[in-house]
Amino acid sequence: MTGTLTIAGLGPGDEALVTPEVSAALAMATDILGYVPYVARVTPREGLTLHPSDNRMELQRAGDALRLASEGRHVVMVSAGDPGVFAMASAVFEALEASPQWQGLPIRVLPGVTAMLAAAACAGAPLGHDFCAINLSDNLKPWPMIEKRLRLAAEADFAIAMYNPRSASRPEGFGRALSVLKEAGCGERLVIFAHAVSTPEERIETLMLHEAQPEMADMKTLVIVGNSATRRVGRWVYAPRHAR
Ligand code: SAH
Repeated sequence: MTGTLTIAGLGPGDEALVTPEVSAALAMATDILGYVPYVARVTPREGLTLHPSDNRMELQRAGDALRLASEGRHVVMVSAGDPGVFAMASAVFEALEASPQWQGLPIRVLPGVTAMLAAAACAGAPLGHDFCAINLSDNLKPWPMIEKRLRLAAEADFAIAMYNPRSASRPEGFGRALSVLKEAGCGERLVIFAHAVSTPEERIETLMLHEAQPEMADMKTLVIVGNSATRRVGRWVYAPRHAR
């Protein structure tokens, strides 16, 4: 029997933002793997084995998924948002690269609504002009790389979506990121703190970057720094289509 591995994004939280393609893959699955809170979003049923695991076990989880698929199981690896954005799809391909015996397995990657798109839609259209996305966690890259990318993104006048801004184990980084952006001349830019988008705890706050405090962000927050032309209209925030 041939197994399959599907790497799927569950969207930012609301059931309505899970794509029909992902729902169909979950309905066909025999095994679900992923970080504990993401696996908890899958409804248990007979014939389905849930394999929740810790956040720091990405490569092992990826190897487990490949092994189960090679044994004939229909495996779905779940991530929040989109699986290719700071998430499990890369970890699976990294494990695959190290394991030639599994390279013939049928693998599919199913996109999901990533946090920055859900957050942007709540706020208006802050990503309507050129933008970039930066993961502020220095677990998998050195901090100086993050600072350099922030400085250059500010210089290039991108809107900047910041994932993983602040966690209990990394309380300092986000404050440093705000300082780098202020030093790069972004103090007068609008910044959006989008907390737990598309869940009952959703909260959107917009202010000037020089007013932002590190405590405004946590691990459920997506932060969007506008470009120099980003502005408000009523309760909305948007980046104009034209830049000069
Ligand atoms: N693969 C995910 C991102 C994983 S990194 C995606 O595509 O969205 C985890 C980070 O995503 C969090 O620290 C937070 O910055 C952001 N995030 C995920 N879900 C979110 C939500 N519902 N609201 C706000 N930010 C969210």
